[in-house]
Amino acid sequence: MKIAIEELAGCSGCTIAVLDLHEMILDLVEKADIVYSPVIMDVKEPPEGIDIAFVTGAIRNTENQERLNLLRKRAKKIVAFGTCACYGGVSGLSMLSSNAELFDYVYRGVETAHPDGTVPKDVPPFLYRAFAVGDMTKIDYYITGCPPKEALLKQIIPALIAGDTLELSRKSVCAE
Ligand code: SF4
Repeated sequence: MKIAIEELAGCSGCTIAVLDLHEMILDLVEKADIVYSPVIMDVKEPPEGIDIAFVTGAIRNTENQERLNLLRKRAKKIVAFGTCACYGGVSGLSMLSSNAELFDYVYRGVETAHPDGTVPKDVPPFLYRAFAVGDMTKIDYYITGCPPKEALLKQIIPALIAGDTLELSRKSVCAE
């Protein structure tokens, strides 16, 4: 079983939520290999033959879109992981401002920005709005939450890796 964890327009909190499974990670890595995760390993591109790809973050720019398309070609199942991926989430709040306002704020409005106010040349062009990943490609499963709750992941991830079906409580997102 080959697993990928992709990170698009989000905050890394969803990837950290997977790492926060603590000792359960040890059980999982006995049954599955994490073959791609830009946050936790130095692999630039998802390999062929991925069984399950967890996609965190929304689609906000052309690079996010290209990476999602590539993953769709290389993964048998895609899981929209976290509220940004499922609905746009925090990244969707960027639609309250114009692209010019966003770039002004990030690259000119803070002390750590380039002193001459230039925007780095390698920033990918923004799309006209933020998209949930399901707006762009077929998604097999959705796991909501910002980030998804540990108790929920402890039920869902082993079942996905084992290929089992799982019936969740109707209050699985909001209930403690
Ligand atoms: Fe971060 Fe929440 Fe978005 Fe996950 S859903 S990437 S934790 S903002």
